[in-house]
Order: sequence, then structure tokens, then C-alpha cells
Amino acid sequence: MLRTCVKSMRGKLLSFAELLFYLFTYLMLGVAAHEYLHYNVLKMLGGEGYAVFTWFGGMVVIEKVPPHPWGMTLVALAGGVGVGLFLLLAAYWDYISKDFEEMTSELIVGFAQLSYGLFEGFFWWMPRPEYYTWAQVAGSAGCLLGLSIGAYLWIRKGWDAWRQGTL
Ligand SMILES: [Zn+2]
Repeated sequence: MLRTCVKSMRGKLLSFAELLFYLFTYLMLGVAAHEYLHYNVLKMLGGEGYAVFTWFGGMVVIEKVPPHPWGMTLVALAGGVGVGLFLLLAAYWDYISKDFEEMTSELIVGFAQLSYGLFEGFFWWMPRPEYYTWAQVAGSAGCLLGLSIGAYLWIRKGWDAWRQGTL
């Protein structure tokens, strides 16, 4: 009896640790891929600049705006929308293969990237202090959306396995 309980508890803790591990990994890789996409689309459209990384994230410093009329919008959209769509596709794959820890982390980071990227794409011209405030709101809204969808799918499809610690 107690043994089953301990086993199931260990299963849940492992499951949670796995979720945190994926979340951290996708957050880190996501930031790198995000800036890489901004940078490449900038170059592709004839602009100039470079990527900077800090402990909190990264950014692409634009030295020459691309001459294309939609240049800045495309460069701004590329990072978050590119990474977001890729992660949501990966989340779908993990949903099918019932890896709910990885799926949930991809949904959280994927929706955060997507909503942040859409915000960047349409509001890159906003004055800086407001821009950062609203960009955080957009990113956090995406996080919450991903977490809600992940939790919903997890509970609906994987609850029994998770409770028994066999997921
Ligand atoms: Zn960006």
C-alpha cells in the first residue's frame, strides 16, 4: 500500500522534474533560434545588424533597415512566429505520442513565442517603454494560454497514467 503510494509520488515528482527540464531547455533554445531567425531574415532582405545575447534573452541590433517596404515587419515577425509555429508542431507530435511533459513545455514556450512574435511584428514601431510593457503582456498571455491548453490535454488524455505514475 505504502509502496504503491511512494511509487506513484516518485512518478509525479519525476514527471514534474521532466516538465521543468523541457521548459528550461525550450526557453533557452527558443531564444537562440528566435534571434537567429530575426538575423537571417534581416540579412535576406538586405539589412545589416548583429545579435546580442544576455542572461535574460537576446536581441538583434539593426544597423541598416532592410529596403523592402515590409522589411521591418517581416524581420520582427520572423523570430517569435517562426519558433512558435515550430514548437506548436512539435507539441502536436508529442500529443500524439502521449509525452505530456514535453507537449506542455512546448505549448507554453510555443504560445509565448507566437504571441510575443506577433506583437513584435505589428508593434515594433512603438516607443520603447510602452513597447517593453506590452511585449511582456503579450508573452505572458501566450504562456498562460499554453499552460491552460497543456493542463487541459494532460488531464483529459493522460490523467490515469499520470496518477499511477506510469506516464
Ligand atoms: Zn524578437
